[in-house]
Amino acid sequence: MNEVTSMFGSMVFDDATMKERLPKETYVAMQNTIKKGKHLDIDLANVVANAMKDWAIEKGATHFTHWFQPLTGITAEKHDSFISPDGSGRVIMEFRGKELVKGEPDASSFPSGGLRATFEARGYTAWDPTSYAFIKDKTLYIPTAFCSFAGDALDKKTPLLRSMEVINKQTLRILRLFGNTETTSVKTTVGAEQEYFLVTQELFDKRPDLIFTGRTLFGKKAPKGQELEDHYFGTIKPKVKEFMEDLDEELWRLGVMAKTEHNEVAPAQHELAPIFSTTNIATDHNQLTMEIMQKVARRHGLVCLLHEKPFEGVNGSGKHNNWSISTDNGINLLEPGDTPAENAQFLLFLAAIIKAVDEYQDLLRISVASAGNDHRLGANEAPPAIISIFVGDEIAAILDAVEKESHVGSKEKELLRIGVHVLPKFPKDTTDRNRTSPFAFTGNKFEFRMLGSSQSIGDPNTVLNTAVAQVLREFADELEAADDFKSALHSLIRRTIKEHKRIIFNGNGYDDKWIKEAEKRGLSNFKTTPEALAHFMDQKNIDLFVGNKVMSYNEMKARDEIMFENYCKILNIEALTMSDMARTQIIPSALRYSGAVADTALKKRSLMPDIDLSYEEKLLGSLTSLINKADAAVNALDSKLADLKKLSTVNEVAFAYKDKIIPVMDKLRAAADELELITAKEYLPYPTYGELLFGVK
Ligand code: ADP
Ligand code: MG
Repeated sequence: MNEVTSMFGSMVFDDATMKERLPKETYVAMQNTIKKGKHLDIDLANVVANAMKDWAIEKGATHFTHWFQPLTGITAEKHDSFISPDGSGRVIMEFRGKELVKGEPDASSFPSGGLRATFEARGYTAWDPTSYAFIKDKTLYIPTAFCSFAGDALDKKTPLLRSMEVINKQTLRILRLFGNTETTSVKTTVGAEQEYFLVTQELFDKRPDLIFTGRTLFGKKAPKGQELEDHYFGTIKPKVKEFMEDLDEELWRLGVMAKTEHNEVAPAQHELAPIFSTTNIATDHNQLTMEIMQKVARRHGLVCLLHEKPFEGVNGSGKHNNWSISTDNGINLLEPGDTPAENAQFLLFLAAIIKAVDEYQDLLRISVASAGNDHRLGANEAPPAIISIFVGDEIAAILDAVEKESHVGSKEKELLRIGVHVLPKFPKDTTDRNRTSPFAFTGNKFEFRMLGSSQSIGDPNTVLNTAVAQVLREFADELEAADDFKSALHSLIRRTIKEHKRIIFNGNGYDDKWIKEAEKRGLSNFKTTPEALAHFMDQKNIDLFVGNKVMSYNEMKARDEIMFENYCKILNIEALTMSDMARTQIIPSALRYSGAVADTALKKRSLMPDIDLSYEEKLLGSLTSLINKADAAVNALDSKLADLKKLSTVNEVAFAYKDKIIPVMDKLRAAADELELITAKEYLPYPTYGELLFGVK
């Protein structure tokens, strides 16, 4: 073993470690729990817990924690030490099965959207044995799901696990129809490419907006941005390189398969891509990745910005969610295949995804909606806010031929019959070049590109899994009832293409013509978070989640409330930070500069009474008028914020932030940025875009 292979997963209680450390029958029972979801009884849990503890202590751990993903979108943990009194005034290190299986964090301050009354404020965490435990910061981390005492999910993980179960069940029904008897379980797989910015800690510390909101609320563009495209895949600066090496090592120890590190389009922007894994593990790993990125950056005197839009005028950061469905016997169901049967099965899954994305386009949009992501989606860099699918020209031609029952290729004389003919090969490379599509087929997986860089990938994957599972359920119902499978399959695929082809778009998603075209096709275009969220509780969405038992009505209602609330909270912090910076930094420094200009003018005049002071006068005039504009905007902002108190529901408040507060924030920023443009550098209250974006050497 070389250094990397022995380091990889060294802090993970993974399969190899279990095999080595658990008695044979316990290991087998654990496998059944992990792979088939079988219940693990308490005696066996005791054995597992004890082995985990011994292993963790050997690796230097003293504490354990149930690690969970509350609706805040980040992770939470509460540490307990392993110590336990031994009865003689000393301690032993102990970890029991029941502590492994269930925890009761005092979690009354996590958002519950009204799901938890105060008398049952505690909630509990339940071990997710399908995601391995690991050691970080001398603590054994146990991935868990987080629920209220009544059993309502209070986290992002529980619905995700439920959605994986539903898609497993429905996919198996389809596979059986195609004569597959070997596959016993199906899992969705995800590789989440993560974008981020790095700035120096020294400069970061001077910007209250970065400190409080993760993004710059003021700042004029630097003379150089991303126009030369010299940063994308460019040489990595030494300091960034050191950071990336350190980051890879930490992630590898935790079993995160960090694979690719490169520079992104904007200056100071970078990306990390992992090798894909099962969706719930990919979700845990993405959370870990974001956390470790921030931690490692600090060690290098840097700060990692995960915000969707840290800087105006250069690209923001997203997350590409590569998604596929794989069987336990190693078949990727989105791989087109070589035989007519494989092709037919592929086309059925493709049709299911097309239908699912079309029917639940609003939910997919909602699953990526956040105040931060509103700066990206549709803003000419990320995909537009309209959901559409890119399939590439080859597949588009095949779908077209199936729909019209015409020929593909020139020689073929017979009609294209699904399940009879071999489809032309899809060259993988040609499917991957449309970077503007929000949902693109990339050869053997789909890439959902609308996710914001800071968000949990839990929600989008829950929606994707559930929506596709629902359509597969409808397909299976229809096909199981058919007398002639092949012809039922053919007409089902044909009908689905006909009914849902409006969602397919292979052109340029940034083009204005597409916006109009999409409107004609009846596709939804929710430009902002409140507009999207307003559709979460639509009846068809309730039917989807409740019908598939992925979320109960109450769990949805709670989430609805929390999503609106999060949006309001973020905007409130941004508005307050802006107001504060304007009053205590921007206006005072512009005044100081005005004073200096006025002093200079007075001195000049006292020396030379007839001197031309038109420059100073013009400058003073501009400074004064911009100071007045900024002051007026700050006052308007404060009074509009006060007006929000008159509103009664969180939905109304969210729309008021969008319609009333954001426009005033924009006005304030415009005045402040113009001031920055004409203020001498030494009077500026904080580092500029130029310094921030080009400050890491
Ligand atoms: P590309 O170079 O076209 O972007 P890659 O093969 O490099 O494609 O994959 C990009 C991301 O997609 C990686 O994170 C990778 O692990 C992930 N990925 C590849 N295959 C799958 C799959 N079957 N399911 C989920 N993610 C996948
Ligand atoms: Mg990508």
